[in-house]
Amino acid sequence: MWETWFGIEMRYYSANDYYKDRFGCKMYKAAISLPVTCPNRDGSKGVGGCAFCSGEGSGEFASLCNISVVNQIDLAIDKLKTKTDEGTGFIAYFQSFTNTYCEVGFLEDAISQAVNHPRVRAISIATRPDCISDKMIKMLSRINKICPIFVELGLQTSNDEIAYRFNRCFFTQEYDDTIIQLKEEGINVITHVIFGLEGDTIEGMLDTVNHVVECKSDGIKFTCLFVLKGTRYEELYNEGKLSVLEMQEYFDIVDKALELLPKDMVVHRLTGDGPKSSLIAPMWTWNKRNVVNYINKRFK
Ligand code: SF4
Repeated sequence: MWETWFGIEMRYYSANDYYKDRFGCKMYKAAISLPVTCPNRDGSKGVGGCAFCSGEGSGEFASLCNISVVNQIDLAIDKLKTKTDEGTGFIAYFQSFTNTYCEVGFLEDAISQAVNHPRVRAISIATRPDCISDKMIKMLSRINKICPIFVELGLQTSNDEIAYRFNRCFFTQEYDDTIIQLKEEGINVITHVIFGLEGDTIEGMLDTVNHVVECKSDGIKFTCLFVLKGTRYEELYNEGKLSVLEMQEYFDIVDKALELLPKDMVVHRLTGDGPKSSLIAPMWTWNKRNVVNYINKRFK
């Protein structure tokens, strides 16, 4: 499928086009941090977190969690003011750590504050599939009827053995069960996958994409593996036991993955950019302009 992205014909259904189709305007994300942690860090499922995750809970770009939700949204909107205008919509993005790893009432209150913000048109919640109780899903379903909710599930790989190596601490079956429940409630699901995990193969990465397709995820986010300071992957990388994907190698896999997606699956991200302050490798992800140029040339 060929769609437009910044006026360029693209080979996939991009988030930009999807948002325009659904909301009639360009949408930006306003990142929000809540004072929550992760079961993979506090000992209830694991300790030390996933091998690639820094202590910031993958939310380095989020504002500080001791500021109110409304103020965090205002700050994010203010930061984006040169790129946006009155017609731009915002998605309140609960980004860091595991945002459903808390009392239902606590998250409901935080989401309600975001829903009532005049510029917010949708809510996005990053979490793990093993941390969404039935009660949590019912609450999200209620709010979804007033304001669209996207739930972003960090699967990373469908291979439990690869997942064990990076200490994911949940089974792929839990993802399979949760996505069914969320979709039964009409909640839009975006699945995160990582290419380049320790021990994974190209075949394995594409198996993961096929798995996400079979589970009927509404959207997908691709990223290459980042090695960040202070993570277990940093140790492996320094010991020469972990290598990272070069840019062309990574996008060769993305290219193959795009071929596997149904036309209506939204690609929310082709790759991410690691936090500059803690990125060790791969350094090509640092040069965002170069990456965007490469994507435009290759995928248009
Ligand atoms: S589940 Fe998420 S927040 Fe928790 S350790 Fe893994 S990547 Fe980090």
